[in-house]
Amino acid sequence: MLLSIIVPCYNEEETIPLFIEAVEKALKDQPIKWEYLFIDDGSKDQTLTVLKEVCQKKPDQCHYVAFSRNFGKEAALYAGLQGAKGDLVTVMDADLQDPPELLPEMLALMEAKKLDCVGTRRKNRVGEPLIRSFFARLFYRLMNRFSETQMVDGARDFRLMSRKMVDAVLEITEYNRFSKGIFSWVGFETEYLSYENRERIAGQTSWSFWSLLKYSFDGIVNFSEVPLMLASLIGAVSCIGAGMALVFIIVRALLFGDPTSGWPSMVSIFLFVGGLQLLCLGIIGKYIGKIFLETKHRPHYLVKESSQCEQLSEKEKLGAGKSPESSNSKERLKNSNSQG
Ligand code: UDP
Ligand code: MG
Repeated sequence: MLLSIIVPCYNEEETIPLFIEAVEKALKDQPIKWEYLFIDDGSKDQTLTVLKEVCQKKPDQCHYVAFSRNFGKEAALYAGLQGAKGDLVTVMDADLQDPPELLPEMLALMEAKKLDCVGTRRKNRVGEPLIRSFFARLFYRLMNRFSETQMVDGARDFRLMSRKMVDAVLEITEYNRFSKGIFSWVGFETEYLSYENRERIAGQTSWSFWSLLKYSFDGIVNFSEVPLMLASLIGAVSCIGAGMALVFIIVRALLFGDPTSGWPSMVSIFLFVGGLQLLCLGIIGKYIGKIFLETKHRPHYLVKESSQCEQLSEKEKLGAGKSPESSNSKERLKNSNSQG
């Protein structure tokens, strides 16, 4: 049984060695083999150099794929899932916020209950800025109300999946990816383990408040059509309201004459209705934007280099010719480059 550990890395030069150490410690007594697949998501620091060093030390166990630029964590996860060879696959952050100590428990639970997926969720959000927690909660509430795809509050991307589930996730090739939603959408038997929130071990989070807000808005738009309905609803309500007001004003003018005061209220109504229209257009525009991106069929990511390439060129240099293994991995890389 092989376990593939997928690790998206963006500016993680400090955390990678600590991460490997922690995983080794957690898995050393487990009757399982494991491989690492690091995805360097266009890091601006020395992450790639660190990855190369690590992979040189353990060429059979460590692999890396480096993107040509920052494509985002979603693209990195997708690349990782495509490249993973294991019968079991797990995705983990490099910063040890996904505790590797949970892995044995997850493996045991998966085995005991014959599950396809064991997810993890944070019991609490200790150490997180209050405003971020508030919006996170709001997001899960909105998401679960608006969308048929239910999401567990506090669930992490950190999860252990069977090959069957990974293949199902890979069948979803959409460009706008929201992994939490996709994991939930594909179904399969899933159970969650809870753990106390951890702070990042080193380095800095790459998510600002705004990037998270945008990400959650994308999540809702990707998995729900309710905002579109909301737009029509707002339009209908304001139309009916304006219609009734108009009748009222006409009747009042007929009965009591027309005092010419009141243009400030008129202007504010114009602005209000104009604002509503822009809001609705914005919501509709968001969906059209998604369709636009989807129809372009661009690749999810572009690979600059990878450990497989490196191993191949080493072999070619030595004149070792093509082993079936190497042509396979070349093929795999080609596929991952062209899929989109
Ligand atoms: N990450 C990535 N690409 C990005 C941003 C983040 O691959 O554009 C990786 C990052 O290296 C880390 C994981 O995604 O392994 C989670 O990121 P981070 O810790 O910054 O997010 P947070 O835990 O604060 O939500
Ligand atoms: Mg983190």
